[in-house]
Amino acid sequence: MRIFITGGAGFIGSHLAQRLIDDDHRVIALDDLSTGQMENIEHLIGNDRFDYRIGSVRDAPLVAELVDRCDLTVHLAAAVGVRLIIERPVHTIETNVHGTEIVLEAVARKQKPILIASTSEVYGKAASPFVEEADLVLGPTSHSRWAYACSKALDEWLALAYAREKGVPVVIARLFNTVGPRQTGRYGMVLPTFVSQALRGDPVTVFGTGEQSRCFGHVRDATEAMVRLMEHASTTGEVFNVGTDQEVTINRLAEMVVSATGSRSEVVHIPYDEAYAEGFEDMHRRVPDVAKLERMTGFRPRIPLEQIIEDVVVHQRAVAARD
Ligand code: UDP
Repeated sequence: MRIFITGGAGFIGSHLAQRLIDDDHRVIALDDLSTGQMENIEHLIGNDRFDYRIGSVRDAPLVAELVDRCDLTVHLAAAVGVRLIIERPVHTIETNVHGTEIVLEAVARKQKPILIASTSEVYGKAASPFVEEADLVLGPTSHSRWAYACSKALDEWLALAYAREKGVPVVIARLFNTVGPRQTGRYGMVLPTFVSQALRGDPVTVFGTGEQSRCFGHVRDATEAMVRLMEHASTTGEVFNVGTDQEVTINRLAEMVVSATGSRSEVVHIPYDEAYAEGFEDMHRRVPDVAKLERMTGFRPRIPLEQIIEDVVVHQRAVAARD
């Protein structure tokens, strides 16, 4: 098949492109390099099954052309990363809402299937473990973090509306904290940040008490789950959590990173109001229920956190040695 990936030079997009090419598919990646980077796809350039275009998902004629050339679209392009979202709320809302509108219009015109990446953020402050049908509990509009959750929830509503009203084959993947090689800490993600701090011997910065918890999933598992969701016709019109349920506090994560790197870094605690700009509210706990994914696809992400940390450390060491 020919597969069009929006955000194809991003962290997840570049891993998905590789996974699909390994399976003999052809991939066209679109990326505006806002948070995506050419280094992510460097190793794919020259492969005759890979093609890329630098441009925006908000460029409707370009999106329409690429949708036309492909059998299936995976929409990953979005403003992501807590730091970016808080610092650039206008960009976040406009990219996420308008970009998705354009992509959905294009696939609807051709009645082509699409997988849309959403986020566990949409659950907001609801109680974990999250099941797909749970109510969404978002915070006030004065806190910019919730604009991200709301923009992605709107993407989901729009996608499901296209599925119901226009018969577009849509599947939605709500990605939980997805980490692995090539992810950058520049936009706030905790694991690459901790690993680079530990490798440099800098203090490892835990925000708040560090007792907040997350479940980290390997990008390899996340892309495998996405491929399975695309392969199973019964997933059409449905929403799926994609993640692991191996829960860890941020304090424990910091300890694990320090030990995996053999670093002498100390772990420091930074109050939220120093860590982020105003308008920040952290989630205390975020755990997915992944039973639906396993039931419908037979797959469940399982790569253990120790292995994930190891892969990130090996990657960052290799990049540092190259530079
Ligand atoms: N975090 C941290 N130090 C950092 C970056 C993040 O302690 O340098 C915390 C953050 O406050 C949150 C958790 O790590 O509680 C996960 O943050 P991330 O931005 O990776 O993902 P999300 O908040 O979207 O789950």
